[in-house]
Amino acid sequence: MNSQPFNLPGQFFKGNLHTHCSESDGDYSAEEVVKRYRQQGYDFLALSDHFLERYGYPITDTRPYRSNSFTTLIATELHVGKTLNDEIWHILAVGIPLDFDPPQEGEDIVAISTRAANLGAFIGIVHPTWYGLQPEDARILPFAHAIEIYNHGSEVENDRGDGWGLCDVLLNEGHRVFAYATDDAHHMAHDAFGGWIHVKAENLDPESILHALKSGHFYSSQGPHIHNIRIEDNDVVVDCSPASVVIISGRGSRSTKEMGNGLTRARLPLERFRDAHFRITVVDDRNKKAWSNPVWLD
Ligand SMILES: [Zn+2]
Ligand SMILES: [Zn+2]
Repeated sequence: MNSQPFNLPGQFFKGNLHTHCSESDGDYSAEEVVKRYRQQGYDFLALSDHFLERYGYPITDTRPYRSNSFTTLIATELHVGKTLNDEIWHILAVGIPLDFDPPQEGEDIVAISTRAANLGAFIGIVHPTWYGLQPEDARILPFAHAIEIYNHGSEVENDRGDGWGLCDVLLNEGHRVFAYATDDAHHMAHDAFGGWIHVKAENLDPESILHALKSGHFYSSQGPHIHNIRIEDNDVVVDCSPASVVIISGRGSRSTKEMGNGLTRARLPLERFRDAHFRITVVDDRNKKAWSNPVWLD
């Protein structure tokens, strides 16, 4: 199985890739936002302020908050041009240089995202449901690493937190995109600590985390843990924290599930997923979910 984190060396680090502070439209200073994530047990954070002229094109410098037990990734949220829906584009770039230049004359979202990617950034298509992003929009960014499949701020503020709709469409078309959950917190209240990723890496430093992100060595969660996903004979075996439902889903409508009380292992038939991809969802008794990245068997 490609790109699954579970049997790789290292350990899981918990982090949030999409957050705002008072460098753009967040309520709190960078220092305060970092402090609160640390207090909640996060291992890393990316502050991704809005890269807009009205905020002075901020790239928030979070290097002072790094330590042996916590790290940060330099990030931004790019906004250039309009989507087909006539909305300003939102694209997450994690792992960019602090001196990333403002949009150049004539640069559209493809060009600026390409510039960020060429400088080493992990590119994420954020909160697609929140602003009605269409597959036709997403297809112009085939180099994007991942789709934001859960945005906690959008979920609690306007019931548009889910991004799997777009992600599944792209997966069905054969795009190999990863899937990540975030907070997109601005207020550090209802919109914080609701969606995150667990990244497998050997070291807690920005380079190791960024490499793991671009390799898909992570899974997303609102609470439950996925301990392992493996192929055993003709089954996919999932080990997880106590769950009510463990779901395998794949191309089109293909899916199957195992239900129970406090399930910590599920055995799901692989047969219908062999020729394309599958992904795993773990749901606990409070309806909190964990999501694997897509798995391609070839
Ligand atoms: Zn946004
Ligand atoms: Zn945002």
